[in-house]
Amino acid sequence: MVAKVWFMLKLLMFQGLFTSPPPDPGFDFFYLALQWPGAYCDTKRACCYPTTGKPAADFGIHGLWPNYNNGSYPSNCDPSNEFDPSEISDLVSTLQTKWPTLSCPSNEGYKFWEHEWEKHGTCSESVMDQHGYFEKTLALRDRINLLQILTDAGIKPNDEFYKLKHIKKAIKRATGVIPVVNCNKDPEKNSQLHEILFCVDKSATEFIDCPMPTDRCPYSRIQFAKF
Ligand code: AMP
Repeated sequence: MVAKVWFMLKLLMFQGLFTSPPPDPGFDFFYLALQWPGAYCDTKRACCYPTTGKPAADFGIHGLWPNYNNGSYPSNCDPSNEFDPSEISDLVSTLQTKWPTLSCPSNEGYKFWEHEWEKHGTCSESVMDQHGYFEKTLALRDRINLLQILTDAGIKPNDEFYKLKHIKKAIKRATGVIPVVNCNKDPEKNSQLHEILFCVDKSATEFIDCPMPTDRCPYSRIQFAKF
């Protein structure tokens, strides 16, 4: 029995010697972009609720984007790998709640998901297929309860203004990683908390500190809009 276990261990070690590392995906890391709907819907741009109704007052997914360390990113990598709705039929109801479309005219969301897959997802084909892209993105988003993290730190979607360093500190304290924070402007020119980008390693498994902390927000007076 001991000899058998020993033989199996040796066999596993021997196989390990010949297991090659996963192929380099051709990019450096992913951004998981989470979006505050109150900011998307409070700009001059029109916003429309999806056909399923007003999304929850929570951060939704914008996308999972392969990126290079120098700040640029690949896009539309494989036009032959078109979006196929039938491949994600089991995920649609979850996508509708967690990856809601806000574009006009009101629609179910397929246009948004198609855009994200074709522009960004096809650049991560060596890591995951279309179903994997959407499934993995949903799972990554579920690992961070962003609204709760901010609310626990007293940063609430109540139209009040907050400091960039407080937003980043609250997220670092709760998750251990530093994200990128992006703002947009409302019609009164207030900067609003719009998107928070978490960096994820190139195998789409671990959250990491962002290589380029290039926030696009002022240091203070960031409005967290009601939704
Ligand atoms: P991207 O090309 O991935 O950087 O995303 C930008 C595009 O996504 C723009 O055309 C935006 O209008 C669109 N977009 C961003 N957020 C949403 C959303 N929640 N619903 C629908 N379209 C969106």
